[in-house]
Amino acid sequence: MPTGKTELTIITESGRCSWARCIFCSFSKKPYLPEPDFNRLKHQLDAKLTRQFDTLKYLNSGSFLDQNQIPKDFQKYLIQKCLDLGIKQLIIESRPDHITPANLKLLKDANKNQKLKIYFALGLETSDNETLKKISKGFTTTDYQNAAALLKKQGFYIRTYLMANLPYTKDIQKSLDDSVNFAQKHTDTIAIINTYPYGYAPLFYMWLKKTWRPLDKSEFNTLVKKHRANKKIDIYYDDYISYPRFKNQTPLVGATKENLNNPIYDLWQDYIVRFYEKPEIKKYALFLPCAYRKPYSFSKTHKQIIRHLKSLPFYANLHHLMISNPGIIPREFETKYPFAHYDWPEWEETPGIKKQYLKTTEDRIQNYLKTHKYEKLFAYFKP
Ligand code: SF4
Repeated sequence: MPTGKTELTIITESGRCSWARCIFCSFSKKPYLPEPDFNRLKHQLDAKLTRQFDTLKYLNSGSFLDQNQIPKDFQKYLIQKCLDLGIKQLIIESRPDHITPANLKLLKDANKNQKLKIYFALGLETSDNETLKKISKGFTTTDYQNAAALLKKQGFYIRTYLMANLPYTKDIQKSLDDSVNFAQKHTDTIAIINTYPYGYAPLFYMWLKKTWRPLDKSEFNTLVKKHRANKKIDIYYDDYISYPRFKNQTPLVGATKENLNNPIYDLWQDYIVRFYEKPEIKKYALFLPCAYRKPYSFSKTHKQIIRHLKSLPFYANLHHLMISNPGIIPREFETKYPFAHYDWPEWEETPGIKKQYLKTTEDRIQNYLKTHKYEKLFAYFKP
């Protein structure tokens, strides 16, 4: 296991990954990323790394050895700082194409006595070359093998990242098991990650189009079960799980079928039902209507409801859940897109749409309550 007793993870943004095309990756596709700059990186590192840790993970979404991301003088500074502080293990990441004898020389020279164990995190993701091509990984298993062999020869260590449930995979169990078997021949440790994309990643749009979807906790646990006992493997279910973020934030207006079962709403409901964990303190559900004014809590009706409820001794235990055409919306998401950017003009409703609205809403409430348990359910009805 590479991780020691104490561990610090620093995630930094510095330049853009030289590849930036993997379909599951959002970081590399952000419209703005700061230029690589020694002083900024040093300042950030000095502020975060102030004492000894057994392990430092320094992750820059791309390649530490790529000078267009991490300048050479900072590469040297980081190694020296780790040595000065007595850090035992450093984990940095790289694509195989940046792993060359010339690029490794600086790290070798700076760590002459090998007091610091330097692990290279290689994002192999899968051992299937066809899938690597389809997810636009930009290298093959042979490139990975060559990079791993060079790293070993030069005295470095290897941590291989594999992604569970990649798209274009017929049998995700077989794919993961094969990938683990393959990687074990070349690596010191393995990290298995649950694939979960964000708004800038093409894979996020596959989720939106319902051609792929991420695994929830129980599905993921079943998939990785047989690998849990392997001491060389670390398993991460929720490191990347967060609420859905959309690049385009166009307002969704109209009482139409499209605005009832809009893929954006369906994706949110999928997230809310399968990934969202309600705050523990919220023991009682309170279903509330939506409001024209957004966010809802700025509306006259919600202001009055909140003012009255606040005097209740169990107010903190009430979980406000808005029911509207986008679905069930916990209060904490009311400012997120699209919940503050839509309108459903009731006067546009046809009898057919009304019927469909009722059925869709009934299904959504049932789905929500299947996974989120409350001691009591309350509902507010307009007088
Ligand atoms: S996953 Fe890594 S290699 Fe692929 S685009 Fe993102 S940062 Fe670059």
